[in-house]
Amino acid sequence: MTQPIDEGYVKYESNWTEGDAPDEDSVAELNRWRKPLLEAGLIGHDDTHDVGFGNLSLRTEGDQFVISGTQTGHIGATGPEHYSLVTGVDTDANRVNCFGPIQASSESLTHAALYALDPSIHAVVHVHSPALWRQQSGKLPTTRPDVSYGTPEMAHEFERLWRETEFPERRIAVMAGHADGLISVGGSLEQAAEKMLGLYRSL
Ligand SMILES: [Zn+2]
Repeated sequence: MTQPIDEGYVKYESNWTEGDAPDEDSVAELNRWRKPLLEAGLIGHDDTHDVGFGNLSLRTEGDQFVISGTQTGHIGATGPEHYSLVTGVDTDANRVNCFGPIQASSESLTHAALYALDPSIHAVVHVHSPALWRQQSGKLPTTRPDVSYGTPEMAHEFERLWRETEFPERRIAVMAGHADGLISVGGSLEQAAEKMLGLYRSL
């Protein structure tokens, strides 16, 4: 008997209100930094499994943030129609409330957990890189291998990294339980993206 891969985990639930695209300035800034990440292959589309990977987000006000929509990793040039405003989350119920022309990425919960760590965090970049993941696991602050992405446990795991490791200073981390996954945070999208791109260039 085959088991669904999300066996044992709370299923992600999106509470989506269809509406206008997020503000133009946020979308422009996200597109600006998405481009070099896409060109580096850190964000993109996995043809073998037909899934998009990687995403970035920008805090607007309070705990709200703009993030790329679900399954947009394959799109070369994203427009306002590919972004959604996350207006709130319930971490332990794995529920995301979002507003926009498209549903927010299923990875919004982890982004929300990172914004909740510190008010100085204004941007989050999540990428996939087999090479960086292998090289940096256990060197950079690293989440536990038994914690899967998109689960309430991952949100709590980032709280632990913030308390117990150099994550607040380094602002970049590896997710051992999410193959190829890394996360960077910053006071701006430029800071978060450059942190990741700088590490990538050093390979
Ligand atoms: Zn991922």
